[in-house]
Amino acid sequence: MSTKPDSVVVVGGGLAGHTAAVTLRSCGFHGRLTLITQEPAAPYDRPPLSKELLSGQALTPTLSPDLADLEVQVHTDTVAVGIRAGEILTTAGRFPFEAALLAPGLKARRLPSGPGAAPARGLRTLADAVGLRTELVAGQRVLIVGAGLIGAEVATAAAAAGCRVSVIGPDLGPALAAVPDAVLAEIRGWYDECGIRLTTGVRVLETTSTGVLLSDSGHRAADVVIAAIGGSPATSWLDASVVALDPAGFITVDEHLCTGLPGVYAAGDAVAWRSSRYGCDMHLEHWHHAADSAHVAARNILGANESYDPLPYFWSHQLGHGLHYIGRHGRADAVEIRTDTRSGRAVTWTRGGRPTAMLAIDAAHLARRARRELEAADRPEMGVAR
Ligand SMILES: Cc1cc2nc3c(=O)[nH]c(=O)nc-3n(C[C@H](O)[C@H](O)[C@H](O)COP(=O)(O)OP(=O)(O)OC[C@H]3O[C@@H](n4cnc5c(N)ncnc54)[C@H](O)[C@@H]3O)c2cc1C
Repeated sequence: MSTKPDSVVVVGGGLAGHTAAVTLRSCGFHGRLTLITQEPAAPYDRPPLSKELLSGQALTPTLSPDLADLEVQVHTDTVAVGIRAGEILTTAGRFPFEAALLAPGLKARRLPSGPGAAPARGLRTLADAVGLRTELVAGQRVLIVGAGLIGAEVATAAAAAGCRVSVIGPDLGPALAAVPDAVLAEIRGWYDECGIRLTTGVRVLETTSTGVLLSDSGHRAADVVIAAIGGSPATSWLDASVVALDPAGFITVDEHLCTGLPGVYAAGDAVAWRSSRYGCDMHLEHWHHAADSAHVAARNILGANESYDPLPYFWSHQLGHGLHYIGRHGRADAVEIRTDTRSGRAVTWTRGGRPTAMLAIDAAHLARRARRELEAADRPEMGVAR
């Protein structure tokens, strides 16, 4: 779109939707701005759900500024069900637009339930977190399916609440897939220190009336089962539309985060793009990506023509430790573990002597330094597949 639009509709009330609306206003967009969200609340932040909120801290994870103060019309409890040229179709009618930003995020993957079994709880929304918090009662046997970042954070909160906690998953999740064995052993030790029983190398097949059924035919008893097994893009409403989705359902966008439909951009967890930095198709499911991509997409709606090709970054607070991961280990040819008991530890991946990624443990300052180094090392690892 070469001229600035008069009206923009944002679909999705998460971080990406909120950031896009704020950016549009801060970049001088004075036209009609509408945000559609299927949730009952105005946009809020998700990382506190598995941390402060689940640990019982009184906290409302609101995102500021309040969109009402920016004259954004927020339509809660409104589900987008389709898109056509110039209009979003929703359960509350049609919303015409000159430009649109699609940011529907992910929906939690569900664990199958066996006959007569209650479904596992999930954690994606504020309502999920508020409901889950009431279940974390001292003495309860809490079983978490999935030992990834969110599984570990939920386990931390449940253990702190005095629950008897087990975590079961095939491994420690994709984020830690390439971490050297010595560091993985250290992370496993954190579970022991928190009194959490960690079982890897086995999958949970389904919930049963008394716990869960395992892939090795075993059974584990539990009072509360929580599925922390990732999410899939909330894009089924686009299936029959002209917006292109990849085979996994992510919205495919070009380097400007445009879907290919004139004036229709997308951002956040639900998008996939071809990264020229890494020479492969990418998607990310992390906070900074949601915010940064929405910022760029909003600016492009207003004609900026900026490219988006980020350095991946995430953080996690789990089991009494802080993890920060920056970059992409990909086809690194060397990995080094640096331990400094005073300033934390870092795992650094390099290729041809140049850094490609770092996992910093209890050392946010090392991750910040690594970010600067990786940004300086232009296009660190071309041609790397995920
Ligand atoms: C519990 C939890 C903890 C996390 N902790 C961390 C962390 O520590 N560090 C980190 O880097 N990242 C973390 N993340 C990830 C981070 O929060 C996400 O990357 C970010 O929220 C993605 O923002 P988004 O706007 O793309 O999607 P979402 O936040 O999922 O927002 C999408 C919104 O769109 C709505 N929507 C979907 N479909 C429709 C539709 N058809 N019509 C209307 N509305 C629709 C959804 O209901 C939702 O409100 C965490 C995520 C969760 C769930």
